[in-house]
Amino acid sequence: MVKFINVSKKYPNGVLALSDVTLTIDKGEFVFLVGSSGAGKSTLIKLLLKEIDPTEGEIIVGEYNLNKLPKKEIPYYRRKIGIVFQDFRLLPNKTVYENVEFAMQITGAPSKLIRRQVPFVLSLVGLAHKAKCYPHELSGGEQQRVALARAIVNKPTLLIADEPTGNLDPDTSWEIMKLLEDINKRGTTVLVATHAKEIVDSMRKRVVAIDRGKIVKDQPKGVYSYEA
Ligand code: ADP
Ligand code: ADP
Repeated sequence: MVKFINVSKKYPNGVLALSDVTLTIDKGEFVFLVGSSGAGKSTLIKLLLKEIDPTEGEIIVGEYNLNKLPKKEIPYYRRKIGIVFQDFRLLPNKTVYENVEFAMQITGAPSKLIRRQVPFVLSLVGLAHKAKCYPHELSGGEQQRVALARAIVNKPTLLIADEPTGNLDPDTSWEIMKLLEDINKRGTTVLVATHAKEIVDSMRKRVVAIDRGKIVKDQPKGVYSYEA
């Protein structure tokens, strides 16, 4: 599903953000990516989205070899990846329903499918009753649920969550992580970059830790902690 083969990324200023990273994530896995600030998590995610290219090594996501992906195909590739961020990034002038609908419309999905799929994902995240609300009328946790609905509405091969609970209180953080687990159980491969130590420690999922650009730990049913 996802393969990093001896991947290094050196930024133009000389910072080596990732150093010889080799990592395989199988279809259907749930993986926590942990590491202190500056460890290289965002770099890894930007490489996955092909926002940046590696200095060395190969990255494969599903049927795509990102090194060989022509520029004009990048937008189509990105549609196969769902992503949520710490700051939700909803469109403020669109309702909950419209935010999710828009993500499908830009792929050219037929309106009949959109009318079926949008309510389905909204109920999956427990927000069917808020479909007509605007983002500013929702709590942070509800906004993140909308972002999750939007991220899965096109049935991505990989769902990436970049610090999804960074702006949420502990209870709400738990709800979002449980929702990510539900989505994973329905078959979506999920990668979650997080600092939520307590949640990582109790969910006992695979944990990949990076430190100064290197993978220092990769444990099934792992725990947080920066130690190698
Ligand atoms: P994390 O997401 O784990 O906090 P990052 O991937 O953002 O880590 O950063 C890894 C390293 O790369 C850090 O030393 C950071 O300062 C550096 N870095 C990140 N982005 C850039 C950039 N665009 N140009 C130069 N250095 C960068
Ligand atoms: P059904 O009720 O037909 O057995 P579901 O209720 O599982 O199927 O799904 C309803 C619709 O949502 C279908 O179009 C299905 O393909 C789609 N769907 C199912 N699971 C997901 C998911 N995790 N993310 C996005 N769409 C999904």
